[in-house]
This record gives sequence, structure tokens and C-alpha cells, in this order.
Amino acid sequence: MSLPVKEILKVGERMLEAAQIEDAKLDSQMIYCHLFQVTKSQLIMEWQRVLEDWECDNYFQLLDRRRQGEPLQYITGEASFLDFTVKVEKGVLIPRRDTENLIVYIKELLKEGSLKGAAVPMEEKRRKAILKGKALDLCCGSGILGIGLNKWLGIKDVTFSDINSEPMKLTRENCKALGVAGIFKEGDLFQPFRHALGKKRFDLIISNPPYIATEEIENLDRDVKDFEPLAALDGGKEGMEIYENILEQVMDHLTKQGLLALEIGHDQGEKIKALGRSAGFTQIHILPDLENRPRVAIMWK
Ligand code: GLN
Repeated sequence: MSLPVKEILKVGERMLEAAQIEDAKLDSQMIYCHLFQVTKSQLIMEWQRVLEDWECDNYFQLLDRRRQGEPLQYITGEASFLDFTVKVEKGVLIPRRDTENLIVYIKELLKEGSLKGAAVPMEEKRRKAILKGKALDLCCGSGILGIGLNKWLGIKDVTFSDINSEPMKLTRENCKALGVAGIFKEGDLFQPFRHALGKKRFDLIISNPPYIATEEIENLDRDVKDFEPLAALDGGKEGMEIYENILEQVMDHLTKQGLLALEIGHDQGEKIKALGRSAGFTQIHILPDLENRPRVAIMWK
């Protein structure tokens, strides 16, 4: 097929459209950019280039993966979060825009001293202690939350943990590439932090754990359900099981001034509040995303 890039990209776009891929145009271009290592703004300079047959084959091979529903980020091997880019691969959840809220809210609370909508501000001494203290990114996946705490809030002592080895490996690589000196512990929730001599405590625990109800998994988009790791999505009955485990143990792993921040499903606010109360938190704030759905829980005592 000796067509110029401009035409090839149109063919690609139409093929993706026919497969009901939402961002057909953008994805057909991004696959090209990834394959030929050009930025999106350099693309226009390639418009008239005529591709060799083998180049064309390579392009349509990758395009076909997208056509089958594989997420673009697994094809290109990277995803953006806040203002940085991380590596992603199959077996690790792709960072979501929504998850950025967690970092934005914690930054607001710890740097400015209050949360939008929360009546009680946090005293400066406590905020400073948390910023200088130890943080834990629990169920770290690609490591975006812990890296976000380091890059956006300047927290230096960040531990990353996940139950699976693929995310741990990827988190290490992402930290290395982004210059974050993390501590890495593989294990089931707090298990790596319980020792014969005591329990390791943190000043800030942040987590986006699996929270989709098992019975909802089959209703997820094909791109998610068929390609992303179930282990990062399935939160058991009502999607609450991992939160229940976290809240049962978290008080043993938080310092007195410590803060817990969780991403939650839009219908889980009340249930999280109840779990937080029985764990002994006195400040529990459920915060909205840009579409005004409750998606973040921040608590302390
Ligand atoms: N912390 C990672 C993220 O927010 C992974 C979450 C997960 O695996 N459930 O994307």
C-alpha cells in the first residue's frame, strides 16, 4: 500500500471507527507516533511521507490490537498521570484521570490547610509533620499515587506495596525513571509491615484499591474487562471487601497524626464513612470529583 501517512492514518481511523473505538482519530495517530517515535506535533511534518510496506504492516499490526479493544496505553506502553508519564503493561491497572483527584485534595489539605467542603481545617503543625513523615502507597499498581505524593507534595519517604510482583516491578522502574527513591514491599495489604517486634506506622496512607463489585465486572467496558487485571478491579461483595480489610488494620499502621486517603466508587461514600467511624476516625470527609460524584475519602482522628 504506497499511500502517504495522511491517507494511512485516515484508513486507520476508519477501521477503528468501524470497531466502535471512541477516539478513533486520536488513537490512529497515537499508534503512528508511538511506532515511529514522533511527537504529536511533529506528525504534520510526516503527512506526505510514503510508508514502506514493512512500515505499513507494522502500523496495521498495532492498529489491529486497538481494533480488538486493547487499550492504547498497553500498546504504547505508557500513560500520563498529573504532569508525568509512567510505563504501563498488561497485568497493571492503567492510571485513570479520576485518580488525580486524590493527589489534588491531599495537596489542598496539607499545603493550604483545609479541604473544600470540610468544616474543620487541619492545624499547621500536623500538616508539616505529615509532609515530613512517612507515606505508604498501598496497592500501588504503576506507582502513580506514591510518585504523585513525591512530585506534587515533596514527600520524600514513600513506601510502595502491592500484592502482585508485576506492579511491584513496574513501580520500581517508574520510580527509577522519575527519580523517586522509594521503598518497595510486595505483600497482601499490611502484611509486609507487621513484624514480630511491632508494626510499621505511616503518617499518610494513600490507596486506590480494587473496589468494583464482583457482580459488576461483567458490565465493564470491553477494553477494561478483557484487558486490565481483574486483581486490580475486583473488590468482592459490593466492592467493599478490600476497604473492610484496610480499615480493620489501618489504625495499627497510622501514626497519631496520620491521614488515610482512599479513592472510592461513586456509591460507596456512606459505607466507607461507616467503616471509618468504626475504625475510630473522627474526621471523615467524602469529596466529589469534577462531575460532583463522591470519589475520594480522606480521614484522620
Ligand atoms: N494505585 C494504582 C492506581 O491508582 C493501582 C490501583 C489498583 O491496582 N487498584 O492506578
